[in-house]
Amino acid sequence: MPTKPATNRHGLSTLSIWGGEQDYTLYERSTQVPVVHSVSYGYDDIDTWHKVALEEVPGHIYSRNTNPTVSVFENKVKALEQAEAATSFASGMAAISNIFGTFLKPGDRVVSIKDSYGGTNRLFTEFLPKLNIEVVLCDTHSHEEIEERIREKCTMLYLESPTNPSLKITDISKLAHVANECGALVVVDNTFATPINQKPLTLGADIVLHSASKYLGGHADALGGVACGNQEIIKRLYQYREINGATLAPMDAYSFIRGMKTLALRIERQNQSAMTIARWLSQHPKVEQVNYPGLESHTNHDVAKQQMSGFGGMLSFSIDGGLEAIKRALPKLNLAHMAANLGCVETVVGPPLTTSHVECTPEERAAAGIPEGLIRYSTGIEDVEDLLADLDHALGYA
Ligand SMILES: *Cc1c(COP(=O)(O)O)cnc(C)c1O
Repeated sequence: MPTKPATNRHGLSTLSIWGGEQDYTLYERSTQVPVVHSVSYGYDDIDTWHKVALEEVPGHIYSRNTNPTVSVFENKVKALEQAEAATSFASGMAAISNIFGTFLKPGDRVVSIKDSYGGTNRLFTEFLPKLNIEVVLCDTHSHEEIEERIREKCTMLYLESPTNPSLKITDISKLAHVANECGALVVVDNTFATPINQKPLTLGADIVLHSASKYLGGHADALGGVACGNQEIIKRLYQYREINGATLAPMDAYSFIRGMKTLALRIERQNQSAMTIARWLSQHPKVEQVNYPGLESHTNHDVAKQQMSGFGGMLSFSIDGGLEAIKRALPKLNLAHMAANLGCVETVVGPPLTTSHVECTPEERAAAGIPEGLIRYSTGIEDVEDLLADLDHALGYA
């Protein structure tokens, strides 16, 4: 058991493994984090119990609020995002809706982008307006428009970069700077990049959030979300979440802790393979367009190079013949799940209409600039030669 906590002077692989791990109480000298399923924690005397309840003494009272296994997961993400504090949620969407619930009130205005994650987009277009919260969705690549809308009025700037499924890139530090000047809270969904490739808090964001169900867990076997920021912001968010009740389950927290031990390794491999596949697809006669921030041809490749240390495992591409060709080709892939998730060790593929934007109507997808004939490709950690051969085989049926 490490006696000193892993710190920012350690590398990302070291932090993936040791980050947060020193904070739990070991049971019977176990070297792995115990899964504490208990709903409550018993005390021998009322005074100690009361001190824990008042947060004067560390400890746990009730697992909707805090839980030892869940705390280790939060501390691990906190270490990787270089944050002061972190709190977790039952899903990525719970993280997002709890952030809105905590920091927005009637009359406020959110400035965001048109092609955010489908579920987030539903909150923007359907649920927030019902609470009399105005939402302005800008063209993702139009920084001038976003800056203008922020300056008009902005309570919260909400960004996602790279975006899902078009892999658009926004300049986080540039926009965060404008929003900070206007006193707005800057929130960034970092699910696609992961802290291995991008650290939004170091770029000026106030809150960074993840769907841990994707890359953090990495094995598509647990649902959860997490948000990081300074002590004060995370305390407010935690106080909302503990009452709102969207708590992460201890077993899922354990799956994330185990999955995250290989986070840096997995992301390194996925960065490399996605780059190779993006280059290969760009040369393929049946492929019309490839969206990958690592390609020099990407509109904001320079911004991506500046704010990311790797370009990630996600890419998307369109093929000749649109949705009908996709329906013929994708089932022929042998080394990919056709499924709605992403960011796991297996390669996963699907079109936006059954994945990122299943919540939207065709009209809404068109308005967000999401072509129906797009394939979203989440690169797994298989051998890249095998993935290329599999793609070549399947595209033969397109
Ligand atoms: C999946 C995803 C979410 C939602 O997360 P859940 O864990 O499925 O609730 C939010 N943002 C992005 C970018 C995602 O990919």
